[in-house]
Amino acid sequence: MDLPKKYQSLIEAKWIVPPILNVSLSSYTSFRCNSRAELLLTLSNQNELRQFLQISTKKSWIWIILGRGSNCIFTDQGLAGILVSLRGDFKKIVCDQKSQTLDCGSAALNFAVFREAKKLSWQGGEFLSTIPGTIGGGIAMNAGAYGREFKDIILEVGFWDLDDGAQIFDNMDCQFTYRGSIFHKKKIIITRAILKFDEGDFAEIDRNQAKFLHHRKTKQPIHSATWGSVFMNPKNNSAGSLIEQCGLKGKGFGNAKISEKHANFIENTGLASFQDAKLTILMAKDRVYKKFGISLNLEVIIIGKYGKVISVDKLDDVI
Ligand SMILES: Cc1cc2nc3c(=O)[nH]c(=O)nc-3n(C[C@H](O)[C@H](O)[C@H](O)COP(=O)(O)OP(=O)(O)OC[C@H]3O[C@@H](n4cnc5c(N)ncnc54)[C@H](O)[C@@H]3O)c2cc1C
Repeated sequence: MDLPKKYQSLIEAKWIVPPILNVSLSSYTSFRCNSRAELLLTLSNQNELRQFLQISTKKSWIWIILGRGSNCIFTDQGLAGILVSLRGDFKKIVCDQKSQTLDCGSAALNFAVFREAKKLSWQGGEFLSTIPGTIGGGIAMNAGAYGREFKDIILEVGFWDLDDGAQIFDNMDCQFTYRGSIFHKKKIIITRAILKFDEGDFAEIDRNQAKFLHHRKTKQPIHSATWGSVFMNPKNNSAGSLIEQCGLKGKGFGNAKISEKHANFIENTGLASFQDAKLTILMAKDRVYKKFGISLNLEVIIIGKYGKVISVDKLDDVI
């Protein structure tokens, strides 16, 4: 394999899934922007994770971990580093009937976890059925819908910290906030979590799932390439409603367009670049501020060339 010199030590190590060079990020993010990462490394078990963190710390490599990339976008400059993805053991879901818990690998999909709970008639996880993404991404974001968030079902979270190795946090340690958690402030990799459910009624769980799906299908552009909500809702307000009141539905730049169905969604209608998305985001933010004096904050995470998150105030300068 022809790896750039700085990644030679990755060759010496053995990986179940070989690293891929110069990978298009469009398959790894739901908005499907076509920038590139220098390397994709898929880790399949704890040993590979340990090995990667040891080498990468020594070499000071830039890396970023993604779940399904359903809340992230990279700039048109891509990622001058390693995109880390978890598979294999990290997708396992183990059930404990006695405690009504599921021990989930962080790469398990939200829907797969919901399906396991539903099979057992355990309720409280129906919101998971319609949020794209993985348990790891959901915990980092404290994702939520229909009145529930990850913080309501998390008992503990296992993760790897660059300094202290494998660790476990309980719910309080995670410091969940509206679409955030302590994990955003640390360079860590979430590996697993224990989720707690309640005894429920299968038919009711089924009804809730159908109700949520129907709501999504009628109110949101679920078949388009988006990140879900672009902005967080301001206190006692709705970002979508504010953007809609500015008359911005259907407006945008290039191939990025504010959805006709839901104004807090931006759709990639073709080959949208990050620039298209950025200009559309800034237009919505600017118009809402001018009309209502409300400053919208991003829910979507914008990742710069060197793996750092870019805040909305710095967006203007990003190419
Ligand atoms: C159509 C659509 C609808 C959506 N609806 C909702 C909704 O109703 N509610 C909601 O909250 N969100 C929603 N989202 C946004 C998104 O699905 C959630 O934020 C989701 O939880 C992200 O999970 P992910 O695995 O894709 O994470 P990613 O987007 O891959 O990552 C998100 C963040 O988590 C970090 N991360 C991911 N995995 C790990 C890990 N193992 N260890 C440490 N950090 C990690 C990443 O570095 C990044 O900072 C929607 C998105 C789409 C496209």
